[in-house]
Amino acid sequence: MFTSLQGKSVLVTGASAGIGLGIARGFALQGASVALSARNAAKLDAAVASLRAEGLNVRGFVADVADAGSVKALIEAVADTQQGLDILCCNAGVFPSASLDALCESDWDHVMGTNAKGTFFCVQAALRYLRKAQYGRVILTSSITGPITGFPGWAHYGASKAAQLGFMRTAAIELARDGITINALLPGNILTEGLQGMGEDYLADMAASIPLKRLGVIEDIANAALFFASREAGYVTGQSLIIDGGQILPESLQALA
Ligand code: NAP
Repeated sequence: MFTSLQGKSVLVTGASAGIGLGIARGFALQGASVALSARNAAKLDAAVASLRAEGLNVRGFVADVADAGSVKALIEAVADTQQGLDILCCNAGVFPSASLDALCESDWDHVMGTNAKGTFFCVQAALRYLRKAQYGRVILTSSITGPITGFPGWAHYGASKAAQLGFMRTAAIELARDGITINALLPGNILTEGLQGMGEDYLADMAASIPLKRLGVIEDIANAALFFASREAGYVTGQSLIIDGGQILPESLQALA
């Protein structure tokens, strides 16, 4: 479908599980050369092995997006190994829950440091390679939570996901002169390991509140990432795409009846 992705060098952060693993697999299935990154080496190795078992062209790099030095080394290693970098997917993210009463400074710093500052570190470190590529595409995994909706316990998370979009809009203008686009995915509730940790009641309630009556799957998000990365989307920048089964649409419970 997206023939322009064949042979492209791609890096996906937070790719040892969930949405990131789905995005990495999506690009690899299109014939791209894909680097997967995460902190835990054992989980990352298992993810890489699962994709290699499908015959896909992938490799793993351990890195922490919240650490500027680690990010710089990651981008350089990926560019060396895959002969440059065309497409950067800033997907790594954390979503621990804490009510406003309980939220402490270290919770705030952990979430903002990974989700917002991690995005900044990755994009900045990748710039010289994206400029060289004469194709550059950056895709951020934001969320509906923060930019569009709220959920108890996620004030810090929502702030970090909205911050990614504020960053994106100015980055889009600065990067346009180099022909680089930057866009954001806004997933609704996607069935991943991370989300499963929220418990069965949460998952069932969420599914009932979605017009399409199901949680999303990682392929739903991967397909949107492939679109943003394609040659066909070359005139789209600074935009966000909501992939949520219609979750943000109902005005009341009655609308879902
Ligand atoms: P997940 O299943 O918990 O996976 C998170 C991935 O990020 C793992 O590979 C994890 O590996 C990695 N990671 C976490 N902190 C990192 C760090 N500091 N540096 C590098 N890698 C790190 O999460 P998910 O549900 O797929 O979510 C992925 C992204 O989608 C996040 O940005 C999240 O906010 C966003 N999102 C998810 C949903 C959803 O419904 N699932 C909805 C909206 C938005 P290590 O722990 O080994 O580093």
